[in-house]
Amino acid sequence: MANRMISDEDLFPLSIGAEAADQLFDWPEQSWKQLTSLGVLSSSIPESFGGNPLHYAELLQQSELLGKHCLTTSFILSQREAGVRRILVGPAHLQKQFLPGLASGELFVTVGMSQLTTSRQHQKPSLHVELLLEGDYQLDGEVPWVTAADHADAIVIGGTLDDGRQVLFLIPRGWPGLTIDPPMNLIVLRGSRTTTMRCDRLRIGSEWLLNGPAEFVLGKVGGGGLETSMLALGLTSAVVDYLRKEAVNRSEVEPILGEVLSEYQRIRSGITSILDRQSDDPSETLTIRARSTVLVIRTTQIALTLAKGAGLIHPHPVQRWVRQANFFLVWSCPRIVSDAVLTAFRFGSGEEILR
Ligand SMILES: Cc1cc2nc3c(=O)[nH]c(=O)nc-3n(C[C@H](O)[C@H](O)[C@H](O)COP(=O)(O)OP(=O)(O)OC[C@H]3O[C@@H](n4cnc5c(N)ncnc54)[C@H](O)[C@@H]3O)c2cc1C
Repeated sequence: MANRMISDEDLFPLSIGAEAADQLFDWPEQSWKQLTSLGVLSSSIPESFGGNPLHYAELLQQSELLGKHCLTTSFILSQREAGVRRILVGPAHLQKQFLPGLASGELFVTVGMSQLTTSRQHQKPSLHVELLLEGDYQLDGEVPWVTAADHADAIVIGGTLDDGRQVLFLIPRGWPGLTIDPPMNLIVLRGSRTTTMRCDRLRIGSEWLLNGPAEFVLGKVGGGGLETSMLALGLTSAVVDYLRKEAVNRSEVEPILGEVLSEYQRIRSGITSILDRQSDDPSETLTIRARSTVLVIRTTQIALTLAKGAGLIHPHPVQRWVRQANFFLVWSCPRIVSDAVLTAFRFGSGEEILR
């Protein structure tokens, strides 16, 4: 059976729960159930494992729609999807063990991989891996960021050997030597229950190895994929709907809205072009990532400027969008993207308008 694309109406329950998902430390149960019943959890998994797959372009469209309605739930899903992608290129026995349960929603996986790419790159590897004589591995150190770790059946964890090569494991939660901290006191996305995990002489066999040892198991750039950009565009389109409503009674909003929409369309066309040409040039994807980050930051700041003080009071959606937009500055953001964003933020003061 072909999978049906989800619609705005389907995701209305996620919008209702978006503020609670962002502010409470509770798992967003109702929103996750809605994703399950809509077939979203099966949409990235091949039919041979019980999935009902969408094409890549459709998956990206789905990410955008989800990001529009509830960034917390769609972010949790994005981390699960990162785990699913790793399992899909992992060994057959782990695919067989996990993919059917992931397709049905009975199982949940997440990832703790940023220590290989975007987190703690200025210090010694955060998670040390040693190959033992018996062929097992021993893991020691921290996995600094793991979303929904305490909800996961297994976690994709990346570590580094003494020779600098990297390895990825799929480690069941509750494995001896693995501890999960309480959720971090984040200012956003609290329902994601993001936390740190620690490995203390954790010993694991090679049957749990997903990838490596290799120099860059996640590719040379790491992070910053089109999926992240689509979530930023999704959040932007929620704000655009708000600006449209404001524009009805406020003439000053119309030209600003026009500029936001133009940049949104340029980014969207860029993504379509990458997909049409099947381009695998990372610089194109990273450019999209930087531009969509700048767009979501600027658009949410515009919305707050227009919403004024009222926009800072819970549960006005603008306060949530402004906080959540900041997340794109730090999440899955390789150095090259943050350099581009920093350049965009350097001072153009706007003072010519005051003269
Ligand atoms: C809500 C949330 C959820 C996340 N979920 C996941 C997840 O599920 N899985 C996952 O793998 N990742 C996840 N991440 C991680 C994310 O993708 C980034 O890797 C992370 O935000 C990078 O931040 P960091 O503080 O670890 O960076 P770091 O680079 O470690 O920076 C920390 C501090 O180190 C100092 N510092 C940084 N660079 C330098 C330097 N060059 N020289 C000297 N000092 C420096 C600064 O003081 C900085 O504040 C999540 C992040 C967030 C915010």
